[in-house]
Amino acid sequence: MVSSHELTSLKHETQQSIYLYINGEFISAAGGATFANINPFTNEQINLVSEGQKTDIDKAVSAARDAFEHGPWKTMKLSKRLSYIYRIADLIDEEVERIAYLEALDTGLPISQTRKMASRASENFRFYARMVESRLVGDVYQVDDEFVNYTIHAPVGVAGLITPWNAPFMLETWKIAPALATGNTVVLKPAELSPLTANILAEIIHKADLPKGVFNVVHGRGEIAGDALVKHPDVQLISFTGETTTGSTIIKNSADTLKSCSMELGGKSPIIVFEDADFERALDACVWGIFSFNGERCTANSRLFVQESIKDKFINALKVRVSNIKVGDPLDDQTEVGPLIDQGHFNKVKGYIDIAKEEGTEIISGKIPTEFSKGNFVPPTLILNAHNDMQVAKDEIFGPVLIVMSFKDEEEVISLANNTDYGLAGYVWTNNIKRGHRVAHKIDAGMLWVNAQNVRDLRTPFGGTKYSGIGREGGHYSFDFYTEHKIIHVSIADHHIQQFGKL
Ligand code: NAD
Repeated sequence: MVSSHELTSLKHETQQSIYLYINGEFISAAGGATFANINPFTNEQINLVSEGQKTDIDKAVSAARDAFEHGPWKTMKLSKRLSYIYRIADLIDEEVERIAYLEALDTGLPISQTRKMASRASENFRFYARMVESRLVGDVYQVDDEFVNYTIHAPVGVAGLITPWNAPFMLETWKIAPALATGNTVVLKPAELSPLTANILAEIIHKADLPKGVFNVVHGRGEIAGDALVKHPDVQLISFTGETTTGSTIIKNSADTLKSCSMELGGKSPIIVFEDADFERALDACVWGIFSFNGERCTANSRLFVQESIKDKFINALKVRVSNIKVGDPLDDQTEVGPLIDQGHFNKVKGYIDIAKEEGTEIISGKIPTEFSKGNFVPPTLILNAHNDMQVAKDEIFGPVLIVMSFKDEEEVISLANNTDYGLAGYVWTNNIKRGHRVAHKIDAGMLWVNAQNVRDLRTPFGGTKYSGIGREGGHYSFDFYTEHKIIHVSIADHHIQQFGKL
């Protein structure tokens, strides 16, 4: 918990401008450009942020390239490189309360939830240090008694990392940790709507004393700074998390420079509750899965399919939960749902609720205390009597809005669940173990949970199918993206070589 003295200093700190971090220095953007960072709870300015331009990206990439080619990072002893990674984790742990506070202030996510994400962020670094030590191994291929061929993992070069605002610190570290631990250098372009904790990360990495240029942060607009990073010829790979449409633009824009892209995109994930499910646990998971992180969560279970026989009972229980959810100040430890990230997103989410009304659904909403009228609050909302081909059941709303539908039997629900453009996650609740596995196998998504809420195991692959993404990160899967598999062929005998042109 933050003491009152620390709170005063944090309030003062947040009013300070934020700068780019390039080649080991905090510097202003070219021409002194800045943009205002807005508090979603008050819609007042928090502070000013240096707005990176193409020239700033050029500078950051050049520093990262130089550090990759000539710096000690990729060639130093592994134990030394990983000691930096462990040091970053330790420094994050020392700053968990500050990070949790600033992330809640910047994004509107409740502080009880940002605190957990800050702790997970340090684990991202420790986990990848351990993974590189234990699992970054090659293969050996013996070919008769003529060759021994083997693979090694080589770092790729400069990694361009582009991240969203919905869980910024955790998602940034999720990419930075494997990129750095495997020997790449990094240019991070954080989301312009949530720059505060990316700045802390730069401070932490500065304090950890990484060689200059290994890690760089360029704040700025996606269409300017992000675009320049995507098109830069000296950037070898782009790891992107964000909207599906942005992902598609990035793939097109990176084509001329043939980048490797990892895409973690949107979702419209089903939660399926069969009549034999553990009712209370399914209810807890369903409510948490859509209303935590203010519903601004890629893996949110935003489409509920409940079996007809328990539909009324489940909906009644949902209504009670929704009316009791504590909506409020993100900095209050008791708050369960805070304000949405900005007014544009607030209008988008409200717009979807209006569309649902016009489409003839019934809307059930929780309460927003009147004193919070300045914030971007959308109450926890249930959309009842919906069906799968309504716009609200098709589009990713990315807010605290649950679309409620029912089904008769297993066959029908599999077809309904798969009738979507997205394929990120899915949740199945049933006490019939065979059915649990069977349905999970048939849902077209990258990640399925059976009788569980979204609990991550860092060793497992993370990613989606269809419009939810391309590729997998997480565990050793990240090595396929952040390293090149090089094959070395070694002759151990005099194999036959054809003698062209020999007289
Ligand atoms: P967004 O696509 O608007 O922005 C994400 C990032 O891309 C930002 O840093 C932005 O500045 C940058 N960007 C925008 N246009 C760009 C361009 N033309 N070139 C390069 N960069 C550009 O996404 P958002 O609104 O910040 O985040 C919400 C979305 O992220 C939701 O769709 C959510 O589902 C998705 N998301 C997915 C995952 C996942 O792992 N699958 C995780 C979290 C969030």
